Amino acid sequence: MTSVNETRSAFLDFFRQAGHEVVPSGPLVPRNDPTLMFTSAGMVQFKNLFTGVEKRPYQRATTAQKCLRAGGKHNDLDNVGYTARHHTFFEMLGNFSFGDYFKPVAIENAWNLVTKVFQLNKERLLVTVYHDDDEAFDLWRKIAGLPESRIIRIATSDNFWAAGDTGPCGPCSEIFYDQGERVWGGPPGSADEDGDRFLEFWNLVFMQYEQIGPGNRAPLPRPSIDTGMGLERISAILQGVTSNYDVDLMRTIIGAVANLTGVDPDGPQAASHRIVADHLRAAAFLVADGVDPSNEGRGYVLRRIMRRAMRHTQLLGAAEPLMWRLVPTLVQLMGQAYPELVEAQARIADVLRSEETRFRTTLARGLSILEDETRDLRAGDSLKGDVAFKLYDTYGFPLDLTQEALRARDIAVDEEGFAASMAHQKAEARRAWAGSGEAATDAVWFGIRDRVGSTEFLGYAAERAESQV
Ligand code: ATP
Ligand code: MG
Ligand code: MG
Ligand code: MG
Repeated sequence: MTSVNETRSAFLDFFRQAGHEVVPSGPLVPRNDPTLMFTSAGMVQFKNLFTGVEKRPYQRATTAQKCLRAGGKHNDLDNVGYTARHHTFFEMLGNFSFGDYFKPVAIENAWNLVTKVFQLNKERLLVTVYHDDDEAFDLWRKIAGLPESRIIRIATSDNFWAAGDTGPCGPCSEIFYDQGERVWGGPPGSADEDGDRFLEFWNLVFMQYEQIGPGNRAPLPRPSIDTGMGLERISAILQGVTSNYDVDLMRTIIGAVANLTGVDPDGPQAASHRIVADHLRAAAFLVADGVDPSNEGRGYVLRRIMRRAMRHTQLLGAAEPLMWRLVPTLVQLMGQAYPELVEAQARIADVLRSEETRFRTTLARGLSILEDETRDLRAGDSLKGDVAFKLYDTYGFPLDLTQEALRARDIAVDEEGFAASMAHQKAEARRAWAGSGEAATDAVWFGIRDRVGSTEFLGYAAERAESQV
């Protein structure tokens, strides 16, 4: 069996041999980029190379990049536990050309890696291209010898990448693996494409235009390549399993959770196991990259992730804080590839332990209130916004924790009501502070807070400008 660690190395070695500089992963919190909440793709650390603003001594690079898709434009948090292919934290393998090679080399490399090194069955592979990208279509036919029926033209933005309203952009081509009829789902572009049978595992982006203004696009003099392959997805394919959560690395973490709780990882509580394992990685890597749990911004995303996991450790019957006890297993699995994890090991365990200890004092109480408040609700009903707000404000339940707790019963949360309660409380707090005789400084303080809040909000919006890959 090819382990996750071996697959990561095989990818990097392949591209090193093809003349690429092996560059370490950038941090999960992008440097000097306030528009981005978290690194969500391999290209993030290279943004300025594509635009030519920055130059480096290499024109080809390859990376295994730590990515987080929770909060911001890319948000897979709600998928975790429920789809076989999504994580919050995952590793994206990539190869990049900064104005060096273009489509023919990118497609040839991709095909060679997938069919010769990874030795995937060609009959099970299919690709998509942007609907008007005849060049890519022809290359897939010539280089890979794929029949036209397995080169699917897609007209949606899924297959066109843009940095924003202006700047570099171009068509994508994605590679899919047919996991066979044992998995539900249809081919890309079909009505059932959300299923997992046809698993997208590699996205190749061909940056070939510059968007100058609306409807005005010019060819880039030196087009570039940006690709992203999900390490956990390709590992699942190589290990013959149909879920990311069944690859050796995730399975080992889940095994540790099962050891500590005594709960069958494949039984009715399998989703809790997956959520704990996924969120452990996300939380540990965020702490290692300097994020602390807080009530705002990135720190709040971390807190939400941790608390959601902690609710599931509770569901798994853990009587004591549990997350921190999983840290040694994680460090053993991933510490070699990511030394920052080893370095931060003690801090990660401390943060997890104290956060879980604190949250446990209110978690049980909040859950029983949630139960009381929803006893008479049925599928299709909504929980009142002020109750969700009380759970948030008094018991530390992030909104998505409440939503997820009710999801199995098909009960929604009145989000508008929640927001209204929040706004009301803020206004009350302002009034109270204004009466305290420190109005001027308080106004300044709230001003900053609000601005920080709205900057972050703009940040999310600006992320629409971010890469798909
Ligand atoms: P999907 O359609 O499955 O959500 P995507 O199109 O959003 O994936 P891209 O933005 O194209 O993903 O990212 C490039 C690659 O990264 C994907 O082909 C996939 O292999 C991997 N990937 C993306 N999101 C995740 C995730 N949440 N967990 C694990 N791997 C992911
Ligand atoms: Mg996605
Ligand atoms: Mg996709
Ligand atoms: Mg994609």
